[in-house]
Amino acid sequence: MDRYAVIGHPVAHSKSPLIHQAFARATGQHMSYELLPAPLDGFLATAQRFAAEGGRGLNVTVPFKLEAYAMAKERSARAEEAQACNTLAWRDDHWYGDNTDGVGLMRDLTHNLHETLAGRDVLVLGAGGAARGILGPLLAKMPRSVVLVNRTEPRAAELAASFAEHGPVAAMSSAQLNGRRFHVVINATSIGINGDVPENLWPEHPFAVGGLAYDLVYADVPTPFLRWASQRSAERTADGLGMLIEQAAESFVLWRGVRPETSPVFAMLRPQA
Ligand code: NAP
Repeated sequence: MDRYAVIGHPVAHSKSPLIHQAFARATGQHMSYELLPAPLDGFLATAQRFAAEGGRGLNVTVPFKLEAYAMAKERSARAEEAQACNTLAWRDDHWYGDNTDGVGLMRDLTHNLHETLAGRDVLVLGAGGAARGILGPLLAKMPRSVVLVNRTEPRAAELAASFAEHGPVAAMSSAQLNGRRFHVVINATSIGINGDVPENLWPEHPFAVGGLAYDLVYADVPTPFLRWASQRSAERTADGLGMLIEQAAESFVLWRGVRPETSPVFAMLRPQA
């Protein structure tokens, strides 16, 4: 049986096994999918051992996406663009690296949430690995503008400069936003489910009429960012569960050559929705 896994530290909380096992059942694929915990200094050894034992593919989560990128001898264009890999496929004698995070988010926004991105103004909070991974696919949707706001401002400026040839992207401080309104505001920071919203860093009223607040973090209760957004007239909110399932589906396509249906898996993981 072909073996797949999600590698991370920590990884016990991951929903990826549930998602991929559901995809495999629904598409009749004969495969297993497991958790693969790796010590912080043991990503390479753990991934290579998994391959030596017959492993065919890995999803890569925090904090190993950059190490996965460095390990992959062959990479997709979107992995090169993101400079990080969240998906690895074993090919003969080496790892092929891909990045499905950005395309997964775009599919959740446009297909599941029916969001139009072309001609829209988009605000991205954060300038870390996740922001880098979503910028290329986001700019490919032809928004009118993408603004990056980050706690460490030079990091946002550097990221915007490296994507300048892909479309209209700029880094700003929240003070510079000066009353601008956005149709879509994406939280790509790692403040997470228990963190405090950095009120001083984020614009006071960023949402245009009908605006969508999207948090890359997911939880069964509204996240701090989504609570903050609701208090600031965001008309629609969504967390990152849809992105998680869609990026997993893209990995599944790469590994198995079959596209699974994602909506039944969303319904399974969030029955109250
Ligand atoms: P990362 O590379 O460590 O970047 C973290 C970002 O958050 C940086 O921009 C950092 O700002 C900012 N930040 C951290 N703490 C902050 C605070 N207290 N106040 C303001 N900004 C803060 O992390 P990442 O890989 O980009 O991941 C970001 C999030 O996306 C994580 O929660 C991850 O789980 C999530 N994610 C979800 C999916 C999904 O499928 N749903 C996929 C990928 C990632 P500085 O530059 O100033 O440090």
